Amino acid sequence: MSTLTMKFGGTSVGSPDAINGVVRIVAESVQQGNRVVVVVSAMAGVTDMLVTAVREAALGNRWVYLSTAQKIRDRHIEAANLLIPPGADRNAVIAEIEALMEQHVEICNAVSMLGESTPRINDAVFSFGERLSSRVIAAAMRGHGLRAQQFDASQFVITNDHFTSAVPIWEETESRIRGQLLPLIDDGITPVITGFVGGTRSGHFTTLGRGGSDYSGAIFAAYTDSDELVIWTDVDGVMTTDPRVDKRARVLPSISYQEVGELAFYGAKVLHPKTVQPILKRGIPMRVRNTFNTAHPGTLITKVAEPINTVIKAVTSIKNVSLLTVSGQGMMGVPGIAGRTFLATAHSGTSILMISQASSEQNFCFVVPQERAQMVKQSVESEMKAEIARQDVDGVDILNDVAVVTVVGAGMRGTPGVAGRVFSTLGSQRVNVIAIAQGASECSISFVISESEREQAVLALHALALDDGEAIPI
Ligand code: ADP
Ligand code: ASP
Ligand code: MG
Repeated sequence: MSTLTMKFGGTSVGSPDAINGVVRIVAESVQQGNRVVVVVSAMAGVTDMLVTAVREAALGNRWVYLSTAQKIRDRHIEAANLLIPPGADRNAVIAEIEALMEQHVEICNAVSMLGESTPRINDAVFSFGERLSSRVIAAAMRGHGLRAQQFDASQFVITNDHFTSAVPIWEETESRIRGQLLPLIDDGITPVITGFVGGTRSGHFTTLGRGGSDYSGAIFAAYTDSDELVIWTDVDGVMTTDPRVDKRARVLPSISYQEVGELAFYGAKVLHPKTVQPILKRGIPMRVRNTFNTAHPGTLITKVAEPINTVIKAVTSIKNVSLLTVSGQGMMGVPGIAGRTFLATAHSGTSILMISQASSEQNFCFVVPQERAQMVKQSVESEMKAEIARQDVDGVDILNDVAVVTVVGAGMRGTPGVAGRVFSTLGSQRVNVIAIAQGASECSISFVISESEREQAVLALHALALDDGEAIPI
């Protein structure tokens, strides 16, 4: 008997029809004798609506958050009516939906009265999406004869209080999942758990960052000793590039943890960048599959990278980023300037996406999300006050409207010529490369280019990942 953790994304649970598909997938697996741990997202669009609701509440736009709340409520009640057979279970779920939505409106009323929200309040609001969907889905499963039971993950995934991007406290999370959830699974229960959501020790809801229910899936897979984590989504698997950018994108039959980690970190929305962390050490295989095309085997993600016969495996890009450059004549040979810059960036609460240093040592540059650029500049310049006064460091320059494009493939490691092919491709497209960095794992190369050339660059590089003759094998 295998234990499978299955995470279903927003589109996969986005409508009554889609939820029926989810129930079928889980029921079939249980019938085959598997133990299934189900982790679900909010219905598609609901988290965005909640984000809007609390923001508009803070601005005093009562009508907006009330009408948003009405829409969310109606969608879940409609799903409950369609998916749960008439009777006590349906009534109880509808009462829970009403109660949760009342709480949501009460919180928004308070935010509106105060004229501001806090990260802690935001997380309480964001958690409603998964708390609503999971209740409807669990009841729909019971209606189909499964012994399904809904859980708020705040009971299991204990996190710090970095609201909106909380970090799990591992020992406690492990002991709760092993101590409180595993016995129920042993009893034959199919748990249906909120993705994305955690809770502090003192009982406040937290969230793991947007798109974080993939990460939740991995956490539950790890501590239930699952034999496999299946990420059910709305595409056939991990593809050679974002299919919305290039229709020629193909599904990769297999890819390594490391490669998929790079893809996710550098912008492939199909997986949250932290997803591989909890399962990597344990070697739990992960599969990305399509809820709407169950005949497709999807992408298998394991430790080993399958060799490929194309120049690269996949291409990703990130927009809305800024390139920050620290320069100065007096920087040469002075130790610690880069270190202090990155610490100052970290202190401003910002993650660096990419770092690149010119060999002259007279400048180095790094990429951060555009909305953080100004804050990082201030933080770094205040750290370098003395050096700037001495004119050893000129300061921090911000270049906006740039993008990071990344090519990924473990085959690049030690293969001469890959970087050359990549750059000559960009050159032939007349795309100007502003900065370059090679991932430490040597399975990716990233570069900064102008945002206006991003799509063109992705399309051109993607040809190197397609094995239909356009790419020349190396
Ligand atoms: P879910 O709600 O199931 O978590 P997401 O919308 O978060 O789904 O992620 C799936 C989407 O990621 C796909 O619909 C696709 O548009 C996008 N995507 C971006 N890059 C890739 C890629 N390399 N492979 C597959 N999908 C990708
Ligand atoms: N519902 C959350 C979001 O939209 C988490 C997720 O779907 O992964 O970000
Ligand atoms: Mg997602």
